Amino acid sequence: MAQHPVAVISSRGARRWQDGHPWIFKSDVVTPPAASAGAVTVRDVQGRVQGTALWSPQSEISLRFVERVGDVALDGAWWGARIGAAIARRQDILDGDTNACRLVHGEGDGLPSLVVDRYDRWLVVQLLSAGLEAYRAEIVDALVTLTDAVGVLARNDASVRTREGLSKTVELLHGSVPETVEVREHGVRYLAAPHAGQKTGAFLDQREARALIGGVARGRALDVFSYHGSFALHVARRAEHVRAVDASAAALARVEANAAMNGLVNIEPVEADAFDFLREEEKAGARYDTIVLDPPAFAKNRASIAGAVRGYRDINLRAMKLLAPGGMLYTASCSYHLTKPDFLAMLREAAAHSGRRMILRALTGQPVDHPELLTVPETGYLKGALLEAGD
Ligand code: SAH
Repeated sequence: MAQHPVAVISSRGARRWQDGHPWIFKSDVVTPPAASAGAVTVRDVQGRVQGTALWSPQSEISLRFVERVGDVALDGAWWGARIGAAIARRQDILDGDTNACRLVHGEGDGLPSLVVDRYDRWLVVQLLSAGLEAYRAEIVDALVTLTDAVGVLARNDASVRTREGLSKTVELLHGSVPETVEVREHGVRYLAAPHAGQKTGAFLDQREARALIGGVARGRALDVFSYHGSFALHVARRAEHVRAVDASAAALARVEANAAMNGLVNIEPVEADAFDFLREEEKAGARYDTIVLDPPAFAKNRASIAGAVRGYRDINLRAMKLLAPGGMLYTASCSYHLTKPDFLAMLREAAAHSGRRMILRALTGQPVDHPELLTVPETGYLKGALLEAGD
């Protein structure tokens, strides 16, 4: 057993951890450890050991628990076991017909502030806290040993790192990683861009939702907020024609490349603001049989929820009006701050205003490679609904 420096936390902090949440905020740290970032043993004010945690000296989230016992050595074997368990949980996906998935989803896998996405033989990691950064070498070693990855890229350009006193960088940690990687996903192929793309190079969290709407798609279709067209590709396999709408010309150029890669000639890129586009289509009396709405997070914080709800309601209302009778809408929100009940309430209001009889066919959440812990709400952010126009 290692002898770690000690942090003392309030009883409120200790209760939070006993209730299953690993974060201890600065306001609950009674005596900070006299140590730089790394592993510490945590005690409550009565001196009772609460566990082993990662210590981030500058962060508002001071401690992130990783064990319920103290003085656990976070050595190579420990990281190997914890990361190995996370990978084992994904075995069904890895054995299936896709070569890209999230291997580690932070707190959801008992590995606070660590994200690891696999794109074929390459890994993209995000080390999102100072306490975790202290174990960069052990983490990379464990990943390379467990996965045979030929390259590991750190997309450490996420802004949360600033709050940890860490720099924002994109850095190669092992081998080499190409600019683009071909992703296979339930029968379609597309290029992810690990170095420069959004998130770690693609939106892996919508993989199952793309297959879901792809399976019921038909007729005239819309993929709104299409990015590089991953929904459009799935939809285009069954629909006659898909319009992929995005405000980014660069994203649409990649839609065209991805369509060509799949031999699909029925995807039309449309460069437009989604709000304007939907309003004009509605005004023109257009009708679509299949619609996807996968917007970016409109609510970036709690203060912006009201405005975000108006935005979500606006696009959903218009999409509902645009549906042909029997048409299908897959709609999502990835705003953590918009809760599941808020999302459903917003859809109900949109349905009421649309005058359409909207049938709820499925409610979706995160796929198994993005585990959402019931006791850690922050691990859950994505919700979606498959809706059918009943008239
Ligand atoms: N559906 C995609 C991910 C979408 S990411 C997938 O599954 O891969 C969100 C996209 O919305 C980005 O490509 C961004 O360029 C686009 N976007 C953001 N605001 C927009 C707006 N007002 N109008 C149109 N596109 C917008």
